[in-house]
Amino acid sequence: MEPTDPTPAHDLHDVLVVGGGPAGSSCAYWLAEAGWDVVLVEKKSFPREKTCGDGLTPRSVRQLADMGLEHALAGAHRFDGLRAHAYGKVLELAWPEHPSFPSYGYVITRHDLDLLVNEHAAKAGATVLQHTEAVTPVIDERQGAVPAGTLPACIGAVVRDTETGARRELRARYVVVADGANSRFGRALGTGRDRHRPMGMALRGYYTSPRHDDPFIESHLDIRDRSGAVVPGYGWIFPLGDGRVNVGVGLLSTDRRWKGVNTSHLMDAFIDWAPRSWGLSPATSLGPPTGGKLPMGLAVGPRVGPTTVVAGDAAGSINPFNGEGIAYGYETGRLAAASVGAALAGGGAEAIAGYEAALDEMYGLYYRVARAFIRLISRPELMHLCVGTGMYSASIMTWVLRIMANLLRPDEIGPAEAVYRTVAALTRALPDP
Ligand SMILES: Cc1cc2nc3c(=O)[nH]c(=O)nc-3n(C[C@H](O)[C@H](O)[C@H](O)COP(=O)(O)OP(=O)(O)OC[C@H]3O[C@@H](n4cnc5c(N)ncnc54)[C@H](O)[C@@H]3O)c2cc1C
Repeated sequence: MEPTDPTPAHDLHDVLVVGGGPAGSSCAYWLAEAGWDVVLVEKKSFPREKTCGDGLTPRSVRQLADMGLEHALAGAHRFDGLRAHAYGKVLELAWPEHPSFPSYGYVITRHDLDLLVNEHAAKAGATVLQHTEAVTPVIDERQGAVPAGTLPACIGAVVRDTETGARRELRARYVVVADGANSRFGRALGTGRDRHRPMGMALRGYYTSPRHDDPFIESHLDIRDRSGAVVPGYGWIFPLGDGRVNVGVGLLSTDRRWKGVNTSHLMDAFIDWAPRSWGLSPATSLGPPTGGKLPMGLAVGPRVGPTTVVAGDAAGSINPFNGEGIAYGYETGRLAAASVGAALAGGGAEAIAGYEAALDEMYGLYYRVARAFIRLISRPELMHLCVGTGMYSASIMTWVLRIMANLLRPDEIGPAEAVYRTVAALTRALPDP
């Protein structure tokens, strides 16, 4: 960290956003839309690849629609629900009806999606600096000692042009950290992952497939390692509608037993195991798979400082139930924008602290229940009992989908809501390491 004095006010932006993925671009969009002077730095140049399953659930579609972007998804592959495979059974589960979310999703590459949202932020008035990496945080040392559980007052960054290597300083009244799962910038400020909380590892690759325009995305809930033993995680096949499918495996490293599992071997085993009709084989592979970490359940903190908030994967915002992170990137980016906007409008550090309260209200109990669920399915015998029993009933699995995709209805208490409320009440009484 570089201790420096703030630059004169005329050099100051209102907000510096670090990272142009879902969290950073949505945050920049909402702040620019509200009229603030936002500069977003992205170390790569759009369009750029990002390792992902490319699946947008109804929660993501809602956020894109709120940003006025749903029409731009018209060329993407729209799907109606999830086909679940487990223990020899198959269930087709339509997305549930919901008052706030659509009953469909899309599959679109991050190459195309992230360009779309980032350009939208720029059109709304954000200054986007591509191939610009935030290297070192600039700290306002006048704020004194940093209270435990918070971040120091970050007021900018030393940035590096990744093409020329030139460095300069960018200053802002507030800084939003949205630099993804590895979050080097966040860690330089003092964030860290709570190692008692679950973490996912996932690997994905593209294949050509005769079923590239299947109307359902597919999940296999009983993926096995090479010895045939079931591991906690799932395999997916997401059709892109353009001749390709996105195929991947995700593994939860909740327990020492699963930390040694090699995800490349798991992927090879899944390709062998997947239904033949998808046509997956080394011959239809479009290149070696790539992987990444999934920090989940708000496992990363601190997430606020007097002038700083952390959003998206940098805050560990992925849903532990299903590994979905795009929607939570958009949502936490939007919450971050609301808090920073309120701070700029005169609310100061108190408004920034409101971000943590907003996260807690939106995800606190739900993620606590999800963490308890993850601990449960880390035991293969319990996983078999839960998933194996559920697969006998489409109704039960529809409730499970509603819970796992965070699509519970606030307006009525159906079976899924009733089950969730009971489990949530029990979870409150359990330790949450
Ligand atoms: C294999 C895999 C499959 C997945 N599948 C799905 C899925 O199907 N659906 C789903 O919803 N989620 C999925 N996820 C999770 C999802 O990809 C993430 O949750 C989501 O991308 C988080 O968005 P973000 O904006 O926080 O971070 P990112 O998307 O990682 O964006 C961070 C951005 O910051 C930039 N950056 C990093 N450091 C700096 C720096 N110092 N300066 C400037 N720029 C910087 C990066 O280049 C990047 O563009 C998957 C993840 C993996 C690994």
